Amino acid sequence: MATLKAARISIMAGRFTKLMSRPRRLVSVRASDHLLTRQISTEAESVASRLHKSGLLRTQGLIGGKWVDAYDRKTIKVYNPATGEVIADVPCMGGRETNDAISSAYEAFYSWSKLTAAERSRYLRKWYDLLIAHREELGQLITLEQGKPIKEALGEVSYGAGFIEFSAEEAKRVYGDIIPSPLADRRLFVLKQPVGVVGAITPWNFPLAMITRKVGPALACGCTVVIKPSEITPLTALAAAELSLQAGIPPGVVNVVMGNASDIGDSLLASTQVRKITFTGSTAVGKKLMAGSAGTVKKVSLELGGNAPCIVFDDADLDVAVKGTLAAKFRNSGQTCVCANRVLVQEGIYEKFVNAFSKAVQNLQVGDGFTEGVVQGPLINEAAVQKVESFLQDAISKGAKVLLGGKRHSLGMSFYEPTVISDVKGEMLLSREEVFGPVAPLLRFKTEDEAIRLANDTNAGLAAYIFTNNIQRSWRVSEALEYGLVGVNEGIVSTEVAPFGGVKQSGLGREGSKYGMDEYLEMKYVCLGNMNSN
Ligand code: NAP
Repeated sequence: MATLKAARISIMAGRFTKLMSRPRRLVSVRASDHLLTRQISTEAESVASRLHKSGLLRTQGLIGGKWVDAYDRKTIKVYNPATGEVIADVPCMGGRETNDAISSAYEAFYSWSKLTAAERSRYLRKWYDLLIAHREELGQLITLEQGKPIKEALGEVSYGAGFIEFSAEEAKRVYGDIIPSPLADRRLFVLKQPVGVVGAITPWNFPLAMITRKVGPALACGCTVVIKPSEITPLTALAAAELSLQAGIPPGVVNVVMGNASDIGDSLLASTQVRKITFTGSTAVGKKLMAGSAGTVKKVSLELGGNAPCIVFDDADLDVAVKGTLAAKFRNSGQTCVCANRVLVQEGIYEKFVNAFSKAVQNLQVGDGFTEGVVQGPLINEAAVQKVESFLQDAISKGAKVLLGGKRHSLGMSFYEPTVISDVKGEMLLSREEVFGPVAPLLRFKTEDEAIRLANDTNAGLAAYIFTNNIQRSWRVSEALEYGLVGVNEGIVSTEVAPFGGVKQSGLGREGSKYGMDEYLEMKYVCLGNMNSN
């Protein structure tokens, strides 16, 4: 894997494509009233040229198989969160482009849904092969626009591509049913059929995997899609869409629009041709989309925010608990919906755990995701840092104590120090809402019942983690937790083969696994009568 130590990609105004092709080591770009001088490393140049060669650096939307600008030519900038530099301009699309994308998807649905499952499976398999063949470029693109360390970004590509591979396999297993008839002259069947055009709205924290987790099963079932990636990280989505075309997936089956989120969302909601909304993102936006889907009675699935408890019992293996909590908390700089948001530690192991955990957190290397050894990149933007700061201020003002970190990192930008904070109480914002940053709030508890009560005291119910060596306790507590996913002695649980999703206000429906296919299928009951006549 190429390590990009000095990957400072110099870009000001204008398309990435132009600047990335400059064959110089030192590039000076005069941008309106100031001069920027940055170094482009040899490695960064080779990333750029590989992205170019493979055609993966797309900066337009995809409608009906054509790459298009916004109709009014408006653009938005995509930034590298580690440097603040502009990576590219992409179209700022709205209702008109979305309506055209919906029409393309609607037209393509007719032929795509008529293909045999085996044919759709082959297209998806080809797409998967291309995603894996371009794993490095896609990983680098993710690090560039999202900031996560390159090792994590490459992991996301494998994980994200896994949903396409799994869907290719599962496409062939969309079974119907035959029901024993209560009447001798009738036969009763259940058919499963694709729901239709799907609007898929995704967040910035997993620019690839949140898309493939929706589009894989949708396409496998015979649906066509209009994807709206986050405006913060559209480049990975566009690269994945380019690879879908290279895989031969017909024009109109996969469409991508980005820009004005509420205009795009409103068009998807208003359309009677869109039969399903699948959304991953904040609970607030999810609720809006759910309410907005009522007008046309769409099928809806929602993957929303979490507030994951990570419970360390006295009988836990200390090393396993520290390693697992570290992974559950600090992955993607704490910016995942399943990140441990509250670390509940039983009093008997509290001191030992806090010491060992703080030591491990102190060793986390912060920096540009391309730098070797870095395990924590920047937060996505300034607003994310301000949110972390306000949550910490709230906690400190109510008596919490910062044990480690607790401030912006000396690297500047949106880098934040990995933070451990103790004496956190249930009423603090840190306990009530997702901090979505590298802050581990510690809460002390006495009994198993108290831990379960604290853990369930939230409207969220996505992921929970427990660390214990007691087998009975692991079953008991897993059953009692009001969450969609539980990790026992494990901090990373998501995989394409298992159902992912939340309960309570963390969402509706499941993604991944055989269960994830049902989200894109309608059931049709067919009653065949008059069977006794010739
Ligand atoms: P967000 O603000 O809700 O945005 C998610 C997506 O919705 C983006 O594409 C955004 O577009 C779009 N959007 C915003 N307002 C909209 C509207 N009125 N109509 C239609 N679309 C709209 O969430 P985020 O900040 O990107 O992501 C972080 C959140 O996602 C966290 O709460 C996290 O827990 C959750 N998440 C959940 C899961 C899960 O599986 N449960 C996985 C990952 C993340 P723009 O970005 O272009 O504005």
